Amino acid sequence: MTVKTRFAPSPTGYLHVGGARTALYSWLFAKKNGGEFVLRIEDTDLERSTQEAVDAILEGMSWMGMEWDEGPYYQTKRFDRYNEMVDQLLADDKAYKCYASKELLDEIRAEQEAAKEMPRYDAEHPKIKAVNEAAKDGDPCVIRFRNPKGGSVVFEDQIRGRIEIGNEQLDDLIIRRTDGSPTYNFCVVVDDWDMGITHVVRGEDHINNTPRQINIYEALGAPVPTFAHCAMILGDDGAKLSKRHGAVSVMQYRDQGYLPNALNNYLVRLGWSHGDQEIFSQQEMIELFSLDAISKSASAFNTDKLLWLNNHYIKTSDPAYVAEHLQWHLDDQGINTDNGPAIEAVISLVGERCNTLVELAQQSRYFYEDFSEFDAAAAKKHLRGVAKGPLELALAKVEALSDWSTDAIKQQVIAAVCEELEIGMGKIGMPLRVAVTGGGQSPSVDAVMELIGKERCVQRMKLALEFIAQREANA
Ligand code: GLU
Repeated sequence: MTVKTRFAPSPTGYLHVGGARTALYSWLFAKKNGGEFVLRIEDTDLERSTQEAVDAILEGMSWMGMEWDEGPYYQTKRFDRYNEMVDQLLADDKAYKCYASKELLDEIRAEQEAAKEMPRYDAEHPKIKAVNEAAKDGDPCVIRFRNPKGGSVVFEDQIRGRIEIGNEQLDDLIIRRTDGSPTYNFCVVVDDWDMGITHVVRGEDHINNTPRQINIYEALGAPVPTFAHCAMILGDDGAKLSKRHGAVSVMQYRDQGYLPNALNNYLVRLGWSHGDQEIFSQQEMIELFSLDAISKSASAFNTDKLLWLNNHYIKTSDPAYVAEHLQWHLDDQGINTDNGPAIEAVISLVGERCNTLVELAQQSRYFYEDFSEFDAAAAKKHLRGVAKGPLELALAKVEALSDWSTDAIKQQVIAAVCEELEIGMGKIGMPLRVAVTGGGQSPSVDAVMELIGKERCVQRMKLALEFIAQREANA
């Protein structure tokens, strides 16, 4: 049997991290078993589904690197097929027409509530029977599934274990509305069957649908897939993760400067574990993943841990991979990298200091753009009269330097200035840093200077000397 899983979002909004985690588990399970992963858009709720949401889901899935082997399928394009199956159940007497009006059902419900009974649809209720017997062909009706009367539905959830629900708790579900449209629980079953889905991995908010769906599979003579229901994701305060906890959409994580690998690694660990291991390459996730190691209890989202992982991936990933994702932020911050060092070189130098790609882009700016002003606090502290001599000497040495390398800058400029003027490293290092980067914080100044390039360093050191001269003149 080829394993086939699916992700079946309803396109009513962005791709939520909870959905993304479910999709990831489903995707990993397919990959681990050499199987296939299907993407299905459950867009039957015409009022709430939008093309914008479909696009956002596809964008989020692609950004996370979860390629689908089949699809996207759209439920709205499969109505004929669902109706064919409804008609088959009708022909087999496994479904029936019900003519009871909404008003009548409300009235019966009110009576049941008043009698402290569980409100439920009962085809044998005398008032419903009377209406159905009196109805003529062509009168408006819904189609209901004839749920088995006795016994119970049992399934072995791969995460939660054995689940048993008595059929007396399941009433006869509407499978086709009065307007002719098939209903959600029915479409899902027909789809999963037609698409050959062997394992349904989904959120536990669907667990109550599962016994109803199993009865429909059986009535259709379809094989029942294996189910795995994942627990929820909570915010740090224990409430269901929502907008008020911060970002919930996958693309917001892109905007905030996370690498997809970091978000994937974070999400896989949020509710699944393999010993104490925290870092998983995509290949390791695929090899080690199993449904039974998914936690039964809800997991709390922890942004600090995600930041830590992001920093890890920025530091340790191939700079070409980081560059691919950094480019979006460089564009977003209007940084043109045409005139300057290779982005990969900047990433290797600056990356480890950054938790996000937003910071990394900010800290890349001075490699590509000239500035006319220095950071006020850094300049106040370091571009003072005492720095004039060391900076002038450093400038002369920079201009004379033919070997423009980190090591030569370190030895023949910085160390040489310290030695000649008999000053400590800080007396030239900091003024030089502020001069060439515009601010007080950067990686090792010699390495930074190599990447900025000689011509720009000369020009910026002259600007710093002018700043000092101006300051002295104003004093
Ligand atoms: N369309 C459902 C949702 O977005 C998922 C249904 C399923 O996975 O069976 O919640």
